[in-house]
Amino acid sequence: MANAVQELFPGTKVTIGPVIDEGFFYDFDVARPFAPEDLIKIEKKMTEIAGRDLPFERIEMSRGEAIAFFEKKGENYKVEIIQGIPVGQAITCFKHGDWIDLCKGPHVRSTGELKVFKLLSVAGAYWRGSERNKMLQRIYGTAFLTAKGLSDYLNRLKEAELRDHRRLGRELDLFSTLEADGPGLILWHPKGAIVRKVIEDLWRERHVTGGYQLVFTPHIARRDLWRTSGHLDFYKDFLYGPMEVEGVDYQLKPMNCPFHIKIYQTRLRSYRELPFRWAELGTVYRYERSGVLHGLLRVRGFTQDDAHIFCRPDQLETEVGGVLEFTFSMLRTFGFNSFDVKLSTRPEKYVGSLDDWEKATAALQSALKNKGVAYEEDPGEGVFYGPKIDIKINDAIGRAWQCSTIQVDFNLPQRFDLNYVTEKGGRERPIMVHRALLGSLERFFGVLIEHYTGAFPVWLAPVQAALLPISEGENSHAARLAQRFREAGVRVEVDSRNEKLGAKIREAELAKIPYMLIIGKKEVMQGTVSVRSRHRGDLGSLEVDPFLRDLMDEIRLKGGEQKSLRS
Ligand code: ZN
Repeated sequence: MANAVQELFPGTKVTIGPVIDEGFFYDFDVARPFAPEDLIKIEKKMTEIAGRDLPFERIEMSRGEAIAFFEKKGENYKVEIIQGIPVGQAITCFKHGDWIDLCKGPHVRSTGELKVFKLLSVAGAYWRGSERNKMLQRIYGTAFLTAKGLSDYLNRLKEAELRDHRRLGRELDLFSTLEADGPGLILWHPKGAIVRKVIEDLWRERHVTGGYQLVFTPHIARRDLWRTSGHLDFYKDFLYGPMEVEGVDYQLKPMNCPFHIKIYQTRLRSYRELPFRWAELGTVYRYERSGVLHGLLRVRGFTQDDAHIFCRPDQLETEVGGVLEFTFSMLRTFGFNSFDVKLSTRPEKYVGSLDDWEKATAALQSALKNKGVAYEEDPGEGVFYGPKIDIKINDAIGRAWQCSTIQVDFNLPQRFDLNYVTEKGGRERPIMVHRALLGSLERFFGVLIEHYTGAFPVWLAPVQAALLPISEGENSHAARLAQRFREAGVRVEVDSRNEKLGAKIREAELAKIPYMLIIGKKEVMQGTVSVRSRHRGDLGSLEVDPFLRDLMDEIRLKGGEQKSLRS
């Protein structure tokens, strides 16, 4: 692609062009931004170069040679890259025809092997990712072994595009981001906020019945607290602040953990009281570069569905087993039934004793086995403070999303010198488990929107039923009915505009409202509503009371459980 770009746009400078998960990109310093038509031209030229069937040749250069070579070509970005390559590391170029690029390789043998590829999009990107540097033009593309592979992939992209939560969020009036006034900060509009409330209510209720206790903690604390917790060392780049309060530095919280620890430390704890399970929907703030922000999925402020378990070592396995069961049951309620589970074990750099790690890892393994959870092990991929289990959920089109995590922590109990009184009156350190079931409410909402393409199941839908009076004569009847539905806990809206029924139906369809209740003269007389279900089609004329009872049942049972009742 870079070869094609330089043949078509002489004077363009090449910068970096790595392989990424679903293809590749290359950043160019070019006189004017690329237009969509340019991509077509570049793709044609690529086909032509591939057709020349030019073999790739690997060339090793000394640092001096490489710098001189690229300087002569005016490729100053490459020179900068070469200067950054650590001494002792080989500097290699790949050559095909008379085109040479700095590249680690490997490559296919010849351009003729490249048959199935497609350029996907173009975007601005700063050199080295810094807004202080020049804005470059990034072209994204992908390549496949077979035409079928490519067309399947393009179909998946189209499907994903239809489900894009940023567009649906706008169209369905669910949320927006602050944009210029605060990139990566989310505004939950009334329709998104009510979905969030439904999620939060369910979350709190299940935690209380599941043996957790709820806590609330502040958004700021003295910077020293974050020094003790280690966040100032390990997560410095993600922190906002400091701000000054009475001459002392304070810090916006990037995590909730230290506050839960502070609750633990307010009094002496006994072995008999453990485990403590403290849960909080805690809003945290972390700095992310503006270039990586993405709708609800990558943000600067978010609410974690957080909990910390403080337990004895002999309780770890049972606790982790409990969390696993809780996680799956929660995710199933939201309509997810397929998961990828990973256990990450001790990395090279770690805190805690080898013995602690082995015991904790064994506890996680047997918890997974006892619960019958299929998982893969990721050796050495744990965080430095303890082994962890990550759960990815697979959505309606098979995409995997990282949401849930269960992490054992030997570090914070040590840093804060946590202990409990043992049976014999001694002191021992509790194990701390961090866990999030949904990840964050923002991210999970984004995943839900994409999973359902914005057409939420009735229990989650912002508006559960739209009442559509056919003419003005039925407006007051519809308003009375709406009040009855609201008092029964059903979220309804009345469309009493002076519009044709067809227009009202179209609007309710666009808003993806699960039920439309059409009310004409006949329905008013008979005490019925004419029901259209988004999922089951036209249900005909139904008496109001039995319909309302069924609807309340459907809402109460939620997606998962109802499916199993029906089958
Ligand atoms: Zn934590």
